[in-house]
Amino acid sequence: MSKKNYSTSTSLVHPSYQAPQGFAAFPTAIHHASTVLFKDVDTMRARSWHNKSAYTYGLHGTPTSFTLEGQLAAIEGGEHCVLAPSGLSAISLVSLTFLNTGDDVLIPDNAYGPNKEFGEWLKSSFGMSVRYYDPMIGAGVGDLIQANTKLLWTEAPGSVSMEVPDLPALCAVAKSKGVVVALDNTWSAGLALKPFELGVDISMQALTKYQSGGSDVLMGAVITRDGELNKRILTTHMRLGLGVGMDDVYLVLRGLQTMKLRFDAHDQAARKVATWLKARPEIAKVLHPAWEDCPGHEFWKRDFSGAGGLFSVIFDPQFSEEQTDRFVNNLELFKIGFSWGGTHSLCVPYRIEKMRQQWNDQGILVRFNIGLEDTEDLIADIEQAMAKMV
Ligand SMILES: *Cc1c(COP(=O)(O)O)cnc(C)c1O
Repeated sequence: MSKKNYSTSTSLVHPSYQAPQGFAAFPTAIHHASTVLFKDVDTMRARSWHNKSAYTYGLHGTPTSFTLEGQLAAIEGGEHCVLAPSGLSAISLVSLTFLNTGDDVLIPDNAYGPNKEFGEWLKSSFGMSVRYYDPMIGAGVGDLIQANTKLLWTEAPGSVSMEVPDLPALCAVAKSKGVVVALDNTWSAGLALKPFELGVDISMQALTKYQSGGSDVLMGAVITRDGELNKRILTTHMRLGLGVGMDDVYLVLRGLQTMKLRFDAHDQAARKVATWLKARPEIAKVLHPAWEDCPGHEFWKRDFSGAGGLFSVIFDPQFSEEQTDRFVNNLELFKIGFSWGGTHSLCVPYRIEKMRQQWNDQGILVRFNIGLEDTEDLIADIEQAMAKMV
């Protein structure tokens, strides 16, 4: 804008400073916007919010969010990415895109709990059929697929109990019956599992975990290779008005740069702690996909290239819940809290038998998120808390 003699109130909202071209720095600029400006009416009318080569309105993205979407798609070998305000909203976005009244969806019994809770709502309020399947069923899922089945959810490994499904078998059967396969790929961060190579159609991420890495952001993503699937997701995303804040997008972009290093460090540390736990008489099973105790260990070996820092253990049944609660309460470095993927170690006991249609183990299940602390300190912490159990 050329220098004009505006009144104070006008000049307060129209700065006269013209930033010189050529500013260069590493960080992605944070572009906040609701209103996006068009140079003339024809340009405005010619723009489509579907088309991410240009901008229409802040809800549909700014250069900051488009940069993150591009990065996330690339990690997993996808083509398209849509951001959502939390991992859970990314889950509901997928379900609402592919399901109508009268449709059927199959969700693994070990899915992230709120995915099942959302399924219950689809059933009770939207006239959908929602069924939970044994995650280890593999190609047997074909017997469950009906004419109205539109979506097969998968999660690898499943939440809390950590079973690793046979993804290629599940995907092959679903594909042969025209069912869309969505994977909650949060555990691998997209680094240790390349879902599209196994036949998955849609990969969903809770960026709240490793991508952020700071226990300070909630965000989700839905990634696809297929342009038609992406268009359908994008339409639902627009209809629901799922915007994300650009300051949060910036935090995820910042976290992403060190994600591979952090993930590998979590992985190594978790395996050290799990190895120590496995040798302890207090522990009956280590439910870490890299251990044979974990159902689907062979699929993890075949399909994954790493593991991250999240795993569970089952205590020997001689220990009561009162004793394992005391163990968790006496930990000092490990804090008690939900979510994971940050720099701090966490520990949560679960009443797993109440979360599953069928559960056979008698011992108490406790989940560990191994942070970036020194593993010797973490092991010493676990050891002192175990000593107070008896
Ligand atoms: C945390 C988590 C989510 C949900 O992410 P939020 O951002 O907390 O809503 C979904 N799936 C899995 C496997 C998760 O661990």
